[in-house]
Amino acid sequence: MEKSIFTRIMDGEIPAKVEYEDEQVIVIHDISPKAPVHLLIIPRKPIPTLMDVEGDDFAILAHIHAVAQKLAQKLELKGFRLINNCGKEGGQEVFHIHYHFLAGFQDESA
Ligand code: AMP
Repeated sequence: MEKSIFTRIMDGEIPAKVEYEDEQVIVIHDISPKAPVHLLIIPRKPIPTLMDVEGDDFAILAHIHAVAQKLAQKLELKGFRLINNCGKEGGQEVFHIHYHFLAGFQDESA
């Protein structure tokens, strides 16, 4: 299978601004931010979509939520949005599972 753009970033083949990393995930700044803070939490395991998660890999999703908490504390954020686009019909463009971590909106009612 061809490497995803996110695996290529993890392998150092493409540059990215890394905010956090550990043995299970890497967190980078989105190249085309949709909010003042727009990070991507990406598991190292290249699972294509949320619908492909099974068995022990559900623990990765729990870890992603723990990392989101850590990021909010590190960046001193009062709130954030955690979004997964699943499948082409769900707006997913990169088929290596990832969660968008968005924060810093001026007007949350907008
Ligand atoms: P999605 O539509 O959920 O698959 O989101 C893919 C995201 O990856 C988009 O928000 C893109 O802006 C972002 N993206 C694509 N290429 C890069 C890159 N080289 N570095 C950082 N973010 C990227």
